[in-house]
Amino acid sequence: NPPDPDISDQNAVASASASAPSPPPPPPPLPPVLADDRVSVSVEACLKPSSTARIDDVRSAIERMLEKRSLSYIDGPIPVPLDDPFLTENVERIRICDTDEWVQNHEILLFWQVKPVVHVFQLSEEGPCEDLSGDGQLPSFNEWMLPAKEFDGMWESLIYESGLKQRLLRYAASALLFTEKGIDPFLVSWNRIILLHGPPGTGKTSLCKALAQKLSIRFNSRYTQSQLVEVNAHSLFSKWFSESGKLVAKLFQKIQEMVEEENNLVFVLIDEVESLAAARKAALSGSEPSDSIRVVNALLTQMDKLKSSPNVIILTTSNITTAIDIAFVDRADIKAYVGPPTLQARYEILRSCLQELVKKGILSNFQDCDHLVIPNFASMKEKLSMPEMQEAQTKFHLCKQLLEAAEACEGMSGRSLRKLPFLTHAALSNPYNCDPSKFLCKMVDTARGELSEL
Ligand code: ADP
Repeated sequence: NPPDPDISDQNAVASASASAPSPPPPPPPLPPVLADDRVSVSVEACLKPSSTARIDDVRSAIERMLEKRSLSYIDGPIPVPLDDPFLTENVERIRICDTDEWVQNHEILLFWQVKPVVHVFQLSEEGPCEDLSGDGQLPSFNEWMLPAKEFDGMWESLIYESGLKQRLLRYAASALLFTEKGIDPFLVSWNRIILLHGPPGTGKTSLCKALAQKLSIRFNSRYTQSQLVEVNAHSLFSKWFSESGKLVAKLFQKIQEMVEEENNLVFVLIDEVESLAAARKAALSGSEPSDSIRVVNALLTQMDKLKSSPNVIILTTSNITTAIDIAFVDRADIKAYVGPPTLQARYEILRSCLQELVKKGILSNFQDCDHLVIPNFASMKEKLSMPEMQEAQTKFHLCKQLLEAAEACEGMSGRSLRKLPFLTHAALSNPYNCDPSKFLCKMVDTARGELSEL
């Protein structure tokens, strides 16, 4: 047993005061000064499906390429250099990620202020592996190899204010680091359970998947393989409970096998966890067979067991916005409320929709370039408030219309917003080669119609 720290400290004090005065010990060496106060910025490079290059080689080549360039660092793609045959052969795209928060609070980041951290990955094209052993209809869980092609771009497409995405990413990164360094959980406690709660359609499930995908990329030098197991708690518990027991056992046996491989990073996504609470309540009130409570308890026990494995992150979602009456909510370290999109988020979501429709030729582009440039919310607000810009309103006509549309969509979920352009298109009397301005007018009408039906 390790000595009790308090007792050994007391002994140390006692023996020090008993000994004769001695010359003061030499001062300890100064800690090394960290001269590097550059901002770490992630640069992600996606390999071509055909590439067989070593990730380390590609990373070094990109680091050399970045050293040679005087880039300003802002989220977005960096062209793959055509004069580098190794990179052009192997790399599909390179992207600077997650500088948004910094750029909003400070200003643009120039290359000498930045320490690029390069992450190279290849997408898995395997698709989901479904488990249909339940009632043969609904899969009780899906399994994905990460990073998966299906989740590519999901992180970027989710728009939230207040740094929610960054907070989740930093939280998960700290949890993995503490685990990696073997921090004693009795001294510093933390676990790897995240709960996202809020109204339906606010992107919680997508955010969990996108976070798992991001982490699989960011931690691929430590964990050579990452997997996501998606459990639909609702479908797990809507089956006969005698079946549920077997399913839970089977599911966790599978997860346990994955976790035993220490280079494997495993994400377990449990959607709609409130159905666990509902099952428990129903059992207590006697409206469900009493073994349902055993199943819920078995699931919670299994989750607790999993917590001791360092390479698991449990992601949960709930549509209940008030307090969730369920035991393991207390176990979640991070509980984040995900609300309906704010005006700025609505503007940005609709802006991304419009840009996609122009890019794919559904809407005509009057601007003289291959994609539609609509200023983002922050710069649009700034420009509209300048008197000289108010005179030059035609230039910002589209922004203003987009802002009106975003205002008209107050109360809509992110899911409804992403559907709105489709519904608008279907409502057009002449849907061919429509111009963005007319489209936006129609969109306001469609939004009002949709909201009136809520
Ligand atoms: P939830 O789990 O909260 O019900 P989902 O993850 O199923 O929500 O969201 C459905 C879709 O709605 C997402 O895939 C995304 O396209 C869209 N969506 C929701 N919220 C947002 C958001 N804040 N930004 C961008 N898209 C969003």
